[in-house]
Amino acid sequence: MKFAFSKSKTTQKKVSRELIEETTFSRNDQGVYLISNSGNLGNMAHEVTHAGQILSKKVSLELGPTIPTYGPGVRLMDLEEKAYKATYAVDETVGFKVEGIHDPQFIIKLSAYLNSNGKRH
Ligand SMILES: [Zn+2]
Repeated sequence: MKFAFSKSKTTQKKVSRELIEETTFSRNDQGVYLISNSGNLGNMAHEVTHAGQILSKKVSLELGPTIPTYGPGVRLMDLEEKAYKATYAVDETVGFKVEGIHDPQFIIKLSAYLNSNGKRH
């Protein structure tokens, strides 16, 4: 399994006055996973965490840009919690207020944040 950061940046959209970044994974026709990213280290850590989740078969992608398929019993929020914690570990900014990386409400706050912004990744 091969991964590469793609040259494509995240897309940005404005949701209720907040600028939201969306990153995507895709697979080229050689099967290489292409990881779009915003270029900042926190986001790259987030996306590399998802790459690790692909390696451990928690989530997969078919060839070509597509919607991910989650492994049995895997929930999107569990994947995102780990990825957002990786972001937080790097730059302490996750778009919502937490009391540190071990905040017991981290996943609840993350869920509210993602739902309110219609954000997927
Ligand atoms: Zn994510």
